[in-house]
Amino acid sequence: MKIQEADAKSLLLAQGLPVPPYEVARSAAEARAAAERFLAAGADQVVLKAQVLVGGRGKAGGVKLAGTADEAEQVASAILRMTIKGITVRRLLVGPGADIVREFYLAALVDRTARRILLMGSAEGGVEIEQVAADRPEAIVSVHAHPQLGLLDWQARRMAFALGLGGHLRAVVAIARGLVATMLAYDADLVEINPLAIVRERDAAGDPIERLTCLDAKVTLDDSALPRHPEQEGLRDLDEEDPTDVEARAEGLTFIKLDGTIGCMVNGAGLAMTTMDLVKRAGGEPANFLDIGGGARADKVEAAMRLILADPNVAAILVNIFGGITRGDEVAHGLIDARAKQSRSVPMVVRIVGTNAEEAATLLREARFETAATLDEAAAKAVAAARAATPAGGGAPA
Ligand code: GDP
Ligand code: MN
Repeated sequence: MKIQEADAKSLLLAQGLPVPPYEVARSAAEARAAAERFLAAGADQVVLKAQVLVGGRGKAGGVKLAGTADEAEQVASAILRMTIKGITVRRLLVGPGADIVREFYLAALVDRTARRILLMGSAEGGVEIEQVAADRPEAIVSVHAHPQLGLLDWQARRMAFALGLGGHLRAVVAIARGLVATMLAYDADLVEINPLAIVRERDAAGDPIERLTCLDAKVTLDDSALPRHPEQEGLRDLDEEDPTDVEARAEGLTFIKLDGTIGCMVNGAGLAMTTMDLVKRAGGEPANFLDIGGGARADKVEAAMRLILADPNVAAILVNIFGGITRGDEVAHGLIDARAKQSRSVPMVVRIVGTNAEEAATLLREARFETAATLDEAAAKAVAAARAATPAGGGAPA
């Protein structure tokens, strides 16, 4: 689950990391009021940042500075009218504009292969790190945190020196350890600071000082760990979620959209993957992964059908149910109801085996469904039906 920069920064603050002050504004007037507060508190300028769950906001014009409250209001209303990579900007982060001396990159992420948290840093921050990794992999420094002991001070110090941040040793050690602590505290997949910036500020006596601060923050949380952190559900931004994902979660279905033309409705994650493999072997491309779960009742089947049909690329549907706890006749009833209500007509091939398969077969025969005895047969029929429904030359049906 991706969370907005402002929410990510609240998690970093809670872990004691240095983050510049900020407010969230939902309108140009709110942005103006926030800007007035920061300017009155001594900021020379304010920064206004689009809160959207995509990278490269700066390049897209979603990060702007303003010197006065008037200007902040104008800039805010311009950003609030923008769409960035297809996403409408609904909120802004407003904060004092930083006087940046230099930008770095520092992130903690899960290295699944090593089964450890990996800390990655680069002196080439601010820009897209993927580009740095592709062009000059040697410009990225990485170190694994110890699974029990965490990130050790000497590891963080080595990172600091490698980035040329020897002059900010203590800050780097604290920030690096803070990133790892944030990963652990919230079961995050990624905690990325880009840029981690050296900024020029004034101390109490008015003398210039330089310090390190987390100017941007990107945190993604492990969806599978969300039950351990019920309070994090509130950080989910429903405005930016695919409506299909929202519905799937509400219905308790595991649904992942893919690019193919064959909608798959299956019970069990392993069977769903097998079904996708067999669709591929039969020469087709699955349109989704969909696990309706064990013991699914008719209403769940109907919801699953709605999700599949919401994808305009779906040209045929393959239903593969292995009845254990799930009863075949329940699924058959669900399919019959769903077809009666479906928004468009798409060929469907059904294979149901296991608990109450015979009752299911009778129901489906009476309702004139296309059925298959084996999974191979079902996959072949679905692929043939999708081909017949898709105009020659491929592409999605109109
Ligand atoms: P992103 O483009 O979505 O990653 O958004 P960032 O928050 O990283 O901002 C992009 C770039 O805008 C940064 O790399 C900085 O160069 C610049 N920027 C962001 N905040 C400030 C600020 O407070 N002051 C100044 N001068 N530049 C900023
Ligand atoms: Mn950034």
